[in-house]
Amino acid sequence: FEKLNKNYTKTSNPISNAIVLGNGVMGKGIIWLFSKYLDDVRIKIRDISQANEIIKDVSKIYDYLVKTRKMTKNQAEFKLNKISYTQDFIGFKNFDFIIEAIVEDENIKKQTYKEIENVANENTIIATNTSSISIEKLSSEVKNKENFLGVHFFNPVNLMPLVEVIPNSNTSKETINKVFELLISCGKTPILVGDCAGFIVNRILLPYMNEAAFILEQGSKIERIDNVIKDFGMPMGPFTLADTVGVDIGYKVATILNESYGSRMPIASIIEKMYNAKLLGEKTKAGFYEYA
Ligand code: NAD
Repeated sequence: FEKLNKNYTKTSNPISNAIVLGNGVMGKGIIWLFSKYLDDVRIKIRDISQANEIIKDVSKIYDYLVKTRKMTKNQAEFKLNKISYTQDFIGFKNFDFIIEAIVEDENIKKQTYKEIENVANENTIIATNTSSISIEKLSSEVKNKENFLGVHFFNPVNLMPLVEVIPNSNTSKETINKVFELLISCGKTPILVGDCAGFIVNRILLPYMNEAAFILEQGSKIERIDNVIKDFGMPMGPFTLADTVGVDIGYKVATILNESYGSRMPIASIIEKMYNAKLLGEKTKAGFYEYA
């Protein structure tokens, strides 16, 4: 893998446009990134009435860049105007790269790849932003396996440099190369990692967040644990992180890791309770903390 990381080369036909499926926390971040760096970006929206809200959220990241004088208002508007949306699969044949950032559910994701393959160009690269599901498993019913891989961005996409790139056993070197080229041109730091549940970062991060929940269950306080970890030097504490990521995502990832690694990766019961009570963090305005 180290060898492949170093052997990335520039191609004559780099990826210049992309489609993003899923318009939640991650989808919006990825849409923003591609609108900034690519020529054309399309969003596949399930409910067209949400289109304005999605564009508004994406434009907030540009507002910040304008406010901090990293971009002019005109430049931001130009970039935002590259975004188009479709409720169906219109124009899918014309795009080089399609990434899904939909709900963390193996069957729903697999069904989505079938729908995409029915309408996409056979050369199109199809990627998943899954946090934890094995890419080999997700690719089992994909026809064009050589063009399929995991491209795992981190939250928030505009700030986090690392992207895990995870091939399945049939992903071609050309696909990996093109994805590296895309990510580097978008200012990211791609790293090629082997396929397993949770890849590298979440195999480390989830037990850390889970352990914080166990300490809470033993009677400590949310703010106290977060403050200790901040004083230790992390940019935010584990509960602030869980609210930012989404407790639902944390719970689903923890469940997949528990199924894959057994008792080595248990799930704290407070996470399950919060998931069932829909206390999901920032997205529901209440999680470990409350949000206005
Ligand atoms: P989210 O809950 O914010 O958004 C999920 C999106 O999936 C929404 O747009 C929703 O409309 C859509 N969706 C729900 N059910 C669907 C269905 N049946 N068919 C098609 N679309 C459906 O989730 P998110 O946090 O953006 O996570 C999306 C993906 O990215 C997941 O695979 C997750 O594991 C991964 N991921 C999340 C984070 C994070 O910090 N939240 C980080 C990296 C990767």
